[in-house]
Amino acid sequence: MGFSTDAVHAGQEPDPTTGAVTVPIYQTSTYVQEELGKHKGFEYARTQNPTRFALEKNLATLERGARGFAFASGMAAITAVGALLKQGDHVVASNNMYGGTYRLFEKVLAPYGLTFTYVNTGDLDATGKAFRPATRMLFMETPTNPSMIISDLRALAKLTRSKNALLVVDNTFMTPFFQRPIELGAHLVVHSTTKYLNGHSDMVGGVVISNDEAASERLQFVQNAAGAVPGPFDCWLCLRGVKTLALRMERHEQNARAIAAWLEKLPKVKRIFYPGLKSHPGHELHMSQASGFGGMIAFDTGSLEKGAAVLRRARLFALAESLGGVESLISHPATMTHASVPREDRERVGLTDGLVRISVGIEDVDDLLRDLEYCLSVL
Ligand SMILES: *Cc1c(COP(=O)(O)O)cnc(C)c1O
Repeated sequence: MGFSTDAVHAGQEPDPTTGAVTVPIYQTSTYVQEELGKHKGFEYARTQNPTRFALEKNLATLERGARGFAFASGMAAITAVGALLKQGDHVVASNNMYGGTYRLFEKVLAPYGLTFTYVNTGDLDATGKAFRPATRMLFMETPTNPSMIISDLRALAKLTRSKNALLVVDNTFMTPFFQRPIELGAHLVVHSTTKYLNGHSDMVGGVVISNDEAASERLQFVQNAAGAVPGPFDCWLCLRGVKTLALRMERHEQNARAIAAWLEKLPKVKRIFYPGLKSHPGHELHMSQASGFGGMIAFDTGSLEKGAAVLRRARLFALAESLGGVESLISHPATMTHASVPREDRERVGLTDGLVRISVGIEDVDDLLRDLEYCLSVL
């Protein structure tokens, strides 16, 4: 089936008892058993929940993976991926990824005896050199957040496989509508479903999609044993959000392209990070592995003071962390999403104090442009 058809239908057959077209919210903690050892495949809701199963099947289908495992947040999903590793294992990771992922790796997982090397995964040579005999995983984002560095998914999949390691891609920014890393050789894809997949800024969730049998088995075990599962209502909200994913992503991108083109013409904006611009160094590579550029744009205002002045003027763009909802947001990575990343590490990847990030929503683009024009008039 086509992507939009799968988005609406995959994992969502009409309810067998009532025929309900929409998957019901199975708000229950346990299930009655007929007799000892005889049940309908559902025993306890941390282990099995039909609403969660529908979401997992839906997202696995969209990412073209074999299995999906839903979690209570994106960070819980990434923590479960971390639980695939053991003491002494080494991980190569993007040096410009979501700040919370860096914090999890350094402050939670490293003390358990895992080691991490951060590289620019856009540099194939450097990434290859970062591998060691103990390397079990390459964890990456493309585009990275918020500097929009593009990495070669096919080449990195080949490299990772030659080293007998797992390639894990955080695909939150692109969503499977624009980019499907598993089709290009990745073993696992993770998402913060809080963002585009749910798309309405009204829940927090995460998912791991696996195309590796051994990893799937372990993830299922960890999901149940560690227990960071999402509630059925949040699963249902995400299922509902995903039905319009294709429509929303098209509009996010249409608006973002118009805004990026407008920003590019302003001499007072120092640097623009958007892979859809021909001037972006990763533009061609990105086009070879994704079908679109998404709705995230970052640009440099020159200083913290100027960035703050721009943010203060925003009216339609809401000053807030997060991204991927129908409403446009504006944020300051250095003090908000990436505050946990040390300054010298931030600046190395272009994440300067003056950097402003926008998540372009699905509003009328003329209204968005008018708001930005007013914001940038202070520069
Ligand atoms: C938000 C985000 C996360 C973390 O997800 P939560 O749902 O907030 O726990 C991880 N990766 C990326 C790219 C994100 O944007």
